Amino acid sequence: MPPQPPISILMYHQIGPYPRPEAHRALFCHIDRFRAQLKYLKWAGFDVINLTEARQRLFEGKPYQRKSVVITVDDGYDDFREHAWPVLQKEGLPATVYLVSSLLGKDTAWLSDWPVKPKLMDAAAVKQLRREGCDFGSHAATHPRLSHLDAARQRAEIFDSKKALEDLLGEEVPDFCYPYGDYSLRARDLVQEAGYRTATTCIRGAGNLSDNPFELTRKAISYGDNLVGFAWKLHMKHERKGQGPQPDKA
Ligand SMILES: [Zn+2]
Repeated sequence: MPPQPPISILMYHQIGPYPRPEAHRALFCHIDRFRAQLKYLKWAGFDVINLTEARQRLFEGKPYQRKSVVITVDDGYDDFREHAWPVLQKEGLPATVYLVSSLLGKDTAWLSDWPVKPKLMDAAAVKQLRREGCDFGSHAATHPRLSHLDAARQRAEIFDSKKALEDLLGEEVPDFCYPYGDYSLRARDLVQEAGYRTATTCIRGAGNLSDNPFELTRKAISYGDNLVGFAWKLHMKHERKGQGPQPDKA
């Protein structure tokens, strides 16, 4: 059997008309580059799919022929509504935005050392974008490092955020993303127990290198990625790189 084409789960954070950042470059993508990246995906014949489709292709033997991409956007910044979503809509492509359920409409309280904390989408914006076809997942309730929490608090972050988002959206929320990519085997098992069907990490590599649907590997798109760099990231499976499950500290 020929090897499966790569399925790349791309990771973005803030997408907008940003000047080149001095730090945290992997957390920013210029909107013009984002637009060019989406056009490239279509031009190069990628399937752009959601996480459910990716899970079925990766773990349930669902056949596929073409190289595939999932677009994930962490944290739910308000700039997504303003800049990235209109571009995705225009190109007719799906994306999953991971929300911090207790911080909708607030700022990124967890970025303690940032002088100006970016705003997060509010509940009304989330509902509007859902009506327009955007997918949403959970990024926990408060964006903690899950391996630093005891079992009860891990459970609350994972279960309560699912419930809160499902109450808001009136439907199942099947996808979870570990804040900071930090997780433990206990947290992973709680994600599964809560009824999620996928969870993404910050372990680098094509999705095909994931051990299971609750430790999906991703590829971060950085401010410095021009189209050549972007294409290179897409076409390669790469080596797995990055932190796997951490020991629980409480
Ligand atoms: Zn995050």
